[in-house]
Amino acid sequence: MAILEEPIKEVLELENYINGEWVKSESQEIKDVINPATQKVLAKAPMSTQKEVTAAIEAAQEAFPEWRRTAPLARVRCLFRLKELLEDNFEELSRVQTMEHGKTIDESRGETRRGIEMVEVATGIPSLMMGSNLEDIAEGIDEYLIYQPLGVFTHIAPYNFPFMVPLWYTPFALATGNTFVVKPSPRDPISQVKLAELIDEAGIPPGVYNLVHGHVDAAQVLMEHPYVKGVTFVGSTTVGRDVYKKSAAAYKRSIVQMSAKNFLIVMPDADVPSTIAALMTSFFGNTGQRCLSGANLVIVGDDEGFYNTLRDGFLEATSKIRVGYGLDEAIQMGPMQGLDGVERTKKYIDIGLKEGAKLIVDGRTPTIAGDYPDDYFINPSVFEDVTPDMTIAKEEIFGPVANILRAKDLDEAITMINNSNYGNAASLFTASGPAARDFQYRVECGNIGINIGIVAPMAFFPFSGMKDSFYGILHGQGRDAIRFFTESKMSIQRWF
Ligand code: NAD
Repeated sequence: MAILEEPIKEVLELENYINGEWVKSESQEIKDVINPATQKVLAKAPMSTQKEVTAAIEAAQEAFPEWRRTAPLARVRCLFRLKELLEDNFEELSRVQTMEHGKTIDESRGETRRGIEMVEVATGIPSLMMGSNLEDIAEGIDEYLIYQPLGVFTHIAPYNFPFMVPLWYTPFALATGNTFVVKPSPRDPISQVKLAELIDEAGIPPGVYNLVHGHVDAAQVLMEHPYVKGVTFVGSTTVGRDVYKKSAAAYKRSIVQMSAKNFLIVMPDADVPSTIAALMTSFFGNTGQRCLSGANLVIVGDDEGFYNTLRDGFLEATSKIRVGYGLDEAIQMGPMQGLDGVERTKKYIDIGLKEGAKLIVDGRTPTIAGDYPDDYFINPSVFEDVTPDMTIAKEEIFGPVANILRAKDLDEAITMINNSNYGNAASLFTASGPAARDFQYRVECGNIGINIGIVAPMAFFPFSGMKDSFYGILHGQGRDAIRFFTESKMSIQRWF
């Protein structure tokens, strides 16, 4: 099938968006943004200086009083305009994601849709941000609860959903009357530049929303600057630990969403065809670079017939995955976003082999549809005879590797999940209501799936997480986000 038209035609010189203006960075440190399928340079991203990041925070601080006084209805009118612009540019936004990240065009379209849904939900702020009151808490005295915005919030983004993840926070922060500074991942920042262009066009006043490019140095300022009231971070647990500690040490609230190692448990009463279809997208969608990806497939029971049927069905479906450039509509799995991801995945395959797991599908030598350099590509791999104590069963690989484990019963499977350091997501495939309830009740993970492979909460629910997958109290999205971005103010009134 023909490759869809590429929306990025020449190398983009990326700029920061500060106080409603596109500003060229003075930084000498520039990173190339590379299309992992073609290896063409798409953009040059500056690693902004601390002075530039500070300027963005100062602009947000200055814009806050007026934005806060803007009526919620007027604030969300900007978001309605943004929603229209996002729809008008849906296809271009999706193709940019595929070009800079590598995911398939369908995965990008799904990401764009999910991002737009965040904006849609945040337009409900005039109702969602309402407080409450009670008359006559004592004779002639009334009490009011009011939710108020706080000021400047920041976001430090990961690379795996370059368009959607910052939208878990941006529309909620703006709708509640706060101002915002976003730092995309330096690996694929173009999607956020495209979003910033549309935010500008939507008429959001200067300084209310700002975008700065950068990496560690820029992030330090975003989590420690005294004007910043709260920090939102999505990324690895190693970095997230530091973000949580440093923002707390600077007296800020934070939402810190981190790494994962998700278990998918299949009971012998599960419907095999629909389970296999769900497993495929869970393990290999987004080339395994998803915090909700399946990592450990646990087949329950001692029924060898069921085990073989499920394993063979899984392997057959795996062998049919077409790998190549995501702008080809026929492709089902794109390259990895970075060479480090390919190396890490291969390193874990070596570790799995050394620890005695059986590699029944070896994706290390990629077969690609089309004529592309293969450095960023890797095919799906499957390990069998994996045990919970093996490194590959415990650590996040973040690549297209599936581990098959066995458990004698649901109890043993739940113990495996609860022994993991991570607690992002877990799914159970079954026809049994009691088993499903037991699973939901006992599993220590923030997002639970019953006959669902990727447990991605909708924009009106919080995106949860537990243990080393999430630090904080309130989560991103939904009502949690509204509480995070506001402070409760109590007012008690008596009139004579
Ligand atoms: P990462 O931690 O390497 O980087 C995330 C962000 O932090 C980037 O913007 C980066 O520039 C910045 N950063 C890197 N080092 C830093 C430091 N020392 N101090 C401050 N900031 C620093 O993560 P990544 O590789 O971009 O993303 C992949 C990870 O994100 C995976 O572990 C995945 O599971 C996780 N993730 C989690 C969720 C979730 O909801 N729990 C969602 C998406 C991704």
